Amino acid sequence: FTKYDDLYNFGKDKNILTIEIEKVNIKALLDLEKDGVTIYPEPSVIQQIQDKGLQKQFYQQHNIPSSPFTIYANADEIRTAVANGELNYPFVQKSRKDGYDGKGVHVVNEVKDLDSLIEAPCLVEEKVEIFKELAVIVARNSKGETIAYPTVEMEFNPTANLVEFLVCPAAISDEVEQVAQAMAKQVIESYNMTGILAVELFLDKEGNVLVNEVAPRPHNSGHHTIESIHTSQYEQHLRAILGLPLGSTAIKCPSVMINILGSSGYAGPAKYVGLDECMAVDGFNLHIYGKETTKPFRKMGHATILDTDINKAKEKARNIQDKLKVIS
Ligand code: ADP
Repeated sequence: FTKYDDLYNFGKDKNILTIEIEKVNIKALLDLEKDGVTIYPEPSVIQQIQDKGLQKQFYQQHNIPSSPFTIYANADEIRTAVANGELNYPFVQKSRKDGYDGKGVHVVNEVKDLDSLIEAPCLVEEKVEIFKELAVIVARNSKGETIAYPTVEMEFNPTANLVEFLVCPAAISDEVEQVAQAMAKQVIESYNMTGILAVELFLDKEGNVLVNEVAPRPHNSGHHTIESIHTSQYEQHLRAILGLPLGSTAIKCPSVMINILGSSGYAGPAKYVGLDECMAVDGFNLHIYGKETTKPFRKMGHATILDTDINKAKEKARNIQDKLKVIS
């Protein structure tokens, strides 16, 4: 999907195309669209979202709250800005393109962190005092109807910088819930986009909700929807791009989703340890992606734990994280 010819030839005889990863060859999508293939999300939107610098400019232009930022051509420009006193610690550097799962994000707290700046076109954001990291998945169909999913709360593994615990519903006030859902709708409507959009948000320590970034596709923060919500994010995406009525996003059962990551210290053909014990847990739902080899922190699958009592779901999730290991 990154090679022009492969993508163009794949798409040329299709009626409709969609994506499940935004790192695609945009020129091929734009040409296919010109040649009459319907593509959702719209290639021009995917193109904007591929570039975090353009994303931030878009939020600014559309009055969507997001942390203040500056665009830099390279790491040396950042060093110069710091030396001139134009830029103060702490700040967060992000490469404009090709970042994912925290790769392409560099937190600069002090002078020694300048040695490991990312050497690429980038932006610098004010470091947000994060209270909670939230996400809202929102869908918009080709008739312009929108629906948002309940807000989820993400907890990160500090070493791998990957989401490791995703809780639905988020433990936030009704007011924050409404602000988060309204903001997600504002973003998808501003993009005039068809499909589903995962909107990652920060709730800062002062109670402000800020957009961090978006992904125009089914997303890690929506995996729990398969079991815990009336309409899964995958079905919703298809409903949206096919112009069908959007499905209910009501919660069937509270849930905790965990990513199943390769254990540190192991690389090679994947073996799963502790599965039997986990399968015996009430409300445990397993998704293994079938990747043949593991490496430290590689995403190998996910599990969603359902329980009407969210605290019990968290306890089970912790237990499963201790038991279920991917080794080689
Ligand atoms: P990726 O595209 O790799 O997921 P993100 O922009 O989501 O990158 O950043 C990864 C993580 O870095 C976030 O989930 C958050 O924990 C932290 N982070 C990103 N931007 C900021 C910021 N402006 N202030 C504080 N922390 C941030």
